[in-house]
Amino acid sequence: PLPTIYVITPTYARLVQKAELTRISQTFLHVPQLHWILVEDSPNKTALVSELLARSGLTYTHLHVLTPHDRKLQEGDPSWLKPRGAEQRNEGLRWLRESTRGRQREQGVVYFADDDNTYSVQLFEEMRGTQMVSVWPVGLVGGMRYERPVVEGGRVVRFHTGWRPGRPFPIDMAGFAVSLRLVLANPESRFDGNAPMGFLESSFLQGLVTMEELEPRAEMCTKVLVWHTRTEKPKMKREEALQKQGLGSDPGVEV
Ligand code: UDP
Ligand code: MN
Repeated sequence: PLPTIYVITPTYARLVQKAELTRISQTFLHVPQLHWILVEDSPNKTALVSELLARSGLTYTHLHVLTPHDRKLQEGDPSWLKPRGAEQRNEGLRWLRESTRGRQREQGVVYFADDDNTYSVQLFEEMRGTQMVSVWPVGLVGGMRYERPVVEGGRVVRFHTGWRPGRPFPIDMAGFAVSLRLVLANPESRFDGNAPMGFLESSFLQGLVTMEELEPRAEMCTKVLVWHTRTEKPKMKREEALQKQGLGSDPGVEV
């Protein structure tokens, strides 16, 4: 049987949430044997997300965990101040370990997919055979056209990155997948929500794998199959002006 790809996605309520989740869920529909673990950063499961999942046609698990206030980025904070989505990814890992307990030998892959990135369907076939940790380039990230592991003689020897190449694993969240077996064999490994900027991925990968063991994919890390796109925050100037006159858009229409 095809190894299952467990995709863990943190998500939070904002104007573009439904658009983001619609886009990635419809990408995932093209991927066989994919199980989406969607983790809301909220005190409870919302109706918007519950209904979207129910209609998605995907195999999914719906979870939620609220990021504690002191760990959350505040309005006006620079976006690099605190890692985002750490508790939600950990909640996804907790569920996965619990629900696959006793299935240590199951072939499976775990991938952390943020809701705003752009994923090629091809990426999922690249990661499906992951033995420990597979890696590939990520486009439009870190102030670069792309970042990637540099491969020589079939092995990763260093990383092409614009910033702090000395980090243990200077890889974006979108640039690696881990085998289910490795996740289950290391029940304590998780993301450190207090990790300094740029070290969140390292906090998880450090205990799991060495650079030499990384499995390069996407034609020896020469092809970009995932992009760290970011969605502009929509302006609501007109909406607010109309609201003042009692002419705002119908709040009953879900956007
Ligand atoms: N996220 C979240 N709670 C937040 C902010 C972000 O769950 O308060 C999620 C978000 O939906 C995304 C992931 O965490 O799936 C990474 O966030 P974002 O895309 O904003 O990070 P960036 O692209 O700036 O690194
Ligand atoms: Mn993002």
